[in-house]
Amino acid sequence: MHEVRARIAAAAARAGRNVADITLLAVSKAQPADSVRAAAAAGLTEFGESYLNEALGKLEALAGLALTWHFIGRLQANKTRPIAERFQWVHGLERLHIAERLSAQRPVHAPPLNVCIQVNLAGEASKAGVAPAQLPQLAEALGALPRLRLRGLMCIPPAERDPERQRAWFARLRELREALNAQGAGLDTLSMGMSADFESAILEGSTVVRIGTALFGPRSLPA
Ligand SMILES: *Cc1c(COP(=O)(O)O)cnc(C)c1O
Repeated sequence: MHEVRARIAAAAARAGRNVADITLLAVSKAQPADSVRAAAAAGLTEFGESYLNEALGKLEALAGLALTWHFIGRLQANKTRPIAERFQWVHGLERLHIAERLSAQRPVHAPPLNVCIQVNLAGEASKAGVAPAQLPQLAEALGALPRLRLRGLMCIPPAERDPERQRAWFARLRELREALNAQGAGLDTLSMGMSADFESAILEGSTVVRIGTALFGPRSLPA
């Protein structure tokens, strides 16, 4: 964890950014609850999960800790309720009808659910996310849902060997956010960068890096 923190700080310094503006989201999917407990004891507070059943067991086991939970996996329409009830963030939103369910199912006493729209920058068939051209329309529709708060954009770009080319994808997401903000969207979040590429993402303005293996080592639980 200290090594990851040091790398984040170095990338922030290189970008001329304040390290406090970059959230380390620890991706604990396929890691045991004890690993989360250890990471929390070391000072981490934000955790990301992708598989709902596994996540719910872990949330139960760790209910005594003041942690913020982010759902970063694929969303299924018939499994939105526990996400609306138990998580504080959803990063992979791409469909309006799922967003409508999350908004309707968000408990009235809870603050609005923070959401990011996932953008499929390269149009990869294997990846989720909306095409950049669909983004303005979806962002506007989400803005009308009372129990969601649209915070920003998320991406999982193609892996590039050349760091400059990797940066270009992240720059594209930053530009898409700038375009929405120029229309008054008020988005404060760019959820981009994983173990293999978070430094490039920070250089292009990432505010949330989602890091699993670089923090916890290889994943162990069956997905
Ligand atoms: C698994 C996952 C991560 C973390 O990946 P690592 O390469 O282990 O850092 C980040 N974001 C999403 C959406 C993931 O599914």
